[in-house]
Amino acid sequence: MGNFYTLPKLPYGYNSLEPHISQVQLQIHHEKHHQAYVSGANAIFERLDKARADGTDLDVKAILKELSFHIGGHLLHTLFWGNLAPAGKASPRPSGILATAIDKEFGSFERFKKEFSQAAVSVEGSGWAALSFCMLTNRPLIMQIEKHNVNIYPMFRILLVLDLWEHAYYLDYKNLRAKFVEAFWNIVNWDEVGRRFEEMLH
Ligand code: MN
Repeated sequence: MGNFYTLPKLPYGYNSLEPHISQVQLQIHHEKHHQAYVSGANAIFERLDKARADGTDLDVKAILKELSFHIGGHLLHTLFWGNLAPAGKASPRPSGILATAIDKEFGSFERFKKEFSQAAVSVEGSGWAALSFCMLTNRPLIMQIEKHNVNIYPMFRILLVLDLWEHAYYLDYKNLRAKFVEAFWNIVNWDEVGRRFEEMLH
């Protein structure tokens, strides 16, 4: 038997991101939705372990698709909680080499914000916007991830993510996804995003 995933604790309180994300919205998102991906992935590993121990056959195609969805959900949510911070607790914009890389690629931080927001608002159905980085070209790149695992570039390190599933914002913003995206910029933890970038380069 192998190891299993666990739900990480948030690095702040459930009410700490208000008014941009309400306590009830954040708590249900973390305790119910994120937990469901952790439990979903672990349940699949239990099935895999059992089938391997018993020597029984599995629908490998279906199970791997489901596993990718749950693990993707778990990892993206973990990144998401880490790249948020209470308003005013982190730098309001990127600094250091991350700021330089963003300016070089997009022309300015404002232009990056505009493109990222457009990606976020226009994700079809449920998905994510992400800032990632290609080590081959040294170019930051915006990903528009569908579900938790579609349109991801292999090996590109994800630096910043924004959850655009309705479960992330519907209690607070109803159908107004663009309002949620606008609010997101107030609670980005740019110190953590910069730390991820420097860690990737070392
Ligand atoms: Mn979510």
